[in-house]
Amino acid sequence: MTATRVLVLNSGSSSVKYQLLDMRDSSRLAMGLVERIGEESSRLKHTPLTDGGASRERTGPIPDHDAALKAVAAELAADGLGLDSPELAAIGHRVVHGGQSFTHPTVVDDTVLAEIERLIPVAPLHNPANLTGIRTARALRPDLPQVAVFDTAFHTTMPESAARYAIDVETADAHRIRRYGFHGTSHAYVSRATAELLGRDPAEVNVIVLHLGNGASASAVEGGRCVDTSMGLTPLEGLVMGTRSGDVDPAVIFHLMRVGGMSTDEIDTLLNKKSGLIGLCGDNDMREIRRRVDEGDERAKLAFDIYIHRLKKYIGAYCAVLGRVDAVTFTAGVGENAAPVREAAVAGLEGLGLAVDDELNAVRSGEPRLISPAGARVAVAVVPTDEELEIATQTYALVAI
Ligand code: AMP
Repeated sequence: MTATRVLVLNSGSSSVKYQLLDMRDSSRLAMGLVERIGEESSRLKHTPLTDGGASRERTGPIPDHDAALKAVAAELAADGLGLDSPELAAIGHRVVHGGQSFTHPTVVDDTVLAEIERLIPVAPLHNPANLTGIRTARALRPDLPQVAVFDTAFHTTMPESAARYAIDVETADAHRIRRYGFHGTSHAYVSRATAELLGRDPAEVNVIVLHLGNGASASAVEGGRCVDTSMGLTPLEGLVMGTRSGDVDPAVIFHLMRVGGMSTDEIDTLLNKKSGLIGLCGDNDMREIRRRVDEGDERAKLAFDIYIHRLKKYIGAYCAVLGRVDAVTFTAGVGENAAPVREAAVAGLEGLGLAVDDELNAVRSGEPRLISPAGARVAVAVVPTDEELEIATQTYALVAI
């Protein structure tokens, strides 16, 4: 029997998201989520996707990732999809930070684990949790290939001119300070899917991808290779996000320390958790913000306007970086669903060849689609992202014989 299944694991500090896919047709067999690991009120939600099975939920203490993965394995086994099945080809792990070392998905061995560990100082929130997920899965199925798929890998093609900050080179190198970029599996998947939507070879197409979810990032993709992206050393740089500020003058930090008397940790929390849309208007859900804007709420309107202004600046910047743009593609929760955001982001950019057709923009669909007027110089598209499928595809490509 050929092994064609891939389990995708996305391990956070207190959660594990998972999907089991069959790579013969990229179909999903099961998906689920374990939340609040380490608390009394842990929750596991498992959804079998074959034969219309109903979701199952259970709550109660799940003390650690090992217990979480064993609980997931038991749920899968109950559906006849156990991790001991010979049909399982590999486990694909999302790893947030691969630094400069990992430019491609990589089969995990002890050296790879050590290198992911070495990168913890540049990804203190994410890499430890990702490592725990890999180690736990490895202990459960030591014979199975475990593949690490890095959020940063797609951006390693950025030229030095885009990847380096203009700070002292020796200091930067000593601390591995450079622009790494994130959401790479999404940017890779969406830029390729955009070329497919246009019926063209990805190697010939230049795309600006706008990944607008709770976290948000833009990238400039030239012939399938990333040449610039808005996130930097960490996912804090760039666009206005749900709770993150995106770009600020770094002197804001010195000012808050010297004049505001704030500690490093307080400023970290301020910029990562209490800024962006939530800091500007108290809400980070774009649906709620739009509802408030429609009711005439001034703070919500200002938050929306700042969000759009930043987005426009990045679209313009990436038009300049790419020189020729074939498509601008919206993806992720806001990009896929919020027609007013797409309309406002492109409004007034006719000079760059950009426009949306109101009727096409209003269509709600889970399919990749064009929303620009027929014959437009630059295509404007909506492409639902699928990071799990991309991780599974990259994992399977590495292990399938
Ligand atoms: P993600 O991080 O990709 O899951 O995106 C989450 C964000 O998508 C939420 O914070 C919402 O603001 C946004 N979102 C989801 N559905 C809609 C919708 N129908 N309209 C506007 N925004 C939405």
